[in-house]
Amino acid sequence: SVFAYAPAPESRSVVDIAPSYGLFIDGEFAEAADGKVFKTVSPSTEEVLSEVAQAGTEDVDRAVKAARRAFEKWSALPGSERAKYLFRIARIIQERSRELAVLETLDNGKPIRETRDADLPLVAAHFFYYAGWADKLDHAGFGRRTTEGIAGATPRPLGVAGQIIPWNFPLLMLAWKIAPALATGNTVVLKPAETTPLSALFFADICRQAGLPKGVVNILTGYGDAGEALVAHPDVNKVAFTGSTAVGKAIARQIAGTGKKATLELGGKGANIVFDDAPVDQAVEGIVTGIFFNQGQVCCAGSRLLVQESVHDEVLHALKRRLSTLRLGDPLDKNTDIGAINSAEQLARIGALVETGEAEGAERWSAPCELPSAGYWFAPTLFTGVSQAHTVARDEIFGPVLSVLTFRTPDEAVAKANNTQYGLSAGIWTEKGSRILAVANKLRAGVVWANTFNKFDPTSPFGGYKESGFGREGGRHGLEAYLDV
Ligand code: NAD
Repeated sequence: SVFAYAPAPESRSVVDIAPSYGLFIDGEFAEAADGKVFKTVSPSTEEVLSEVAQAGTEDVDRAVKAARRAFEKWSALPGSERAKYLFRIARIIQERSRELAVLETLDNGKPIRETRDADLPLVAAHFFYYAGWADKLDHAGFGRRTTEGIAGATPRPLGVAGQIIPWNFPLLMLAWKIAPALATGNTVVLKPAETTPLSALFFADICRQAGLPKGVVNILTGYGDAGEALVAHPDVNKVAFTGSTAVGKAIARQIAGTGKKATLELGGKGANIVFDDAPVDQAVEGIVTGIFFNQGQVCCAGSRLLVQESVHDEVLHALKRRLSTLRLGDPLDKNTDIGAINSAEQLARIGALVETGEAEGAERWSAPCELPSAGYWFAPTLFTGVSQAHTVARDEIFGPVLSVLTFRTPDEAVAKANNTQYGLSAGIWTEKGSRILAVANKLRAGVVWANTFNKFDPTSPFGGYKESGFGREGGRHGLEAYLDV
């Protein structure tokens, strides 16, 4: 384990946060052209962590031009050379992962146990995985003999990728975007979310440490207007966006007819389906991981529990008992299960949807826990007596709130699971292997987990059906999204 040497408990002093940061353009940190800055706060304390530059249209142009200049040389490098840089980045991430985990926990509010044991190992794994692909792409499929002669297909990078990411897994979303783009010979301008800019800026420092050529990776901290300018820039060839469905749709409209390629990873309302033969304790752990991991701020969260009617009471009883034992509080404490909500705005959004749930007649239950006085907090919450028409069964809450529905037959479970505008994830809990296959094949979701939930690895494609977006990230499919043939 990369953490074998780490003394406990994790401390804020592990990481050195500067009072201010610039944009990372062409290998240098620089102020925004108009000198604008914004503050980033720790959601668990509301303490100001740092002040970062706020990119505007001129900065976007400078960064895209730098990426375009770098593209000529970077794309011409043999894959084996690009691989060396990616391997180096992966190793530095491992070496600095304590620092990065603490930083991510401070800026995002998620428990250190998650950043340490899930985010950081997955970030490194992504760079290792795509480093391994970089030299396997050259000449792929070239020189096939056909009845007409010799035919070939050569994969080529797209050019400059404009990448926009959300705040829920800041460094992991960065890895999902940057690793496949660089492996395939593209260069990158990435905009992190406005509430979590710091880990991307630390990553910029890692790029320098790895000796990555200037301009191959550029990081623009800022708001949605910077994202919009990046999408609009005529010299951006590919847009990779992860975020809300509303912004994803706006981006799809914006690029229509421009010839830009895009992958969009958007919202979800995942169904976690528990059949009556599932071991209850195991299913309860899976339900908890499904919706309370990262305070439910997960696009593929199992936010709708579909439980077979015959075991509803038993499962709910065990679930409430388990939720009453979750520890909410200081995210830097390695015993903490539930950290802070990422921002005041997100907390207000969760609160409003929960009020709507109550007003529409669903029954609310919240785990008994004391909320800290500073910071943004929401207790783990369940809604029972939920019908498919309820807002809490339809809208993505993106918080620690589970809506419980029931079903009688497998067909009814499938119909209810698919009754959503989204199609990102689903889970199935049953002892019957044949049922897993039968149900999984009928679910309109990009990822289906069986007897587990929220498991990720770099070899598996991830992405949505319907309004959860299009394109896949991860695995071979994730490379294809950065190539023309
Ligand atoms: P958001 O759409 O508000 O913001 C995402 C990013 O887009 C941010 O960097 C933001 O600054 C930028 N942005 C905002 N307006 C923009 C515009 N007009 N043009 C370009 N960029 C713009 O989403 P959020 O609140 O940060 O994240 C939560 C959402 O992300 C949830 O809906 C969640 O389901 C989704 N999400 C999806 C996945 C996935 O893989 N499918 C993963 C994580 C989060």
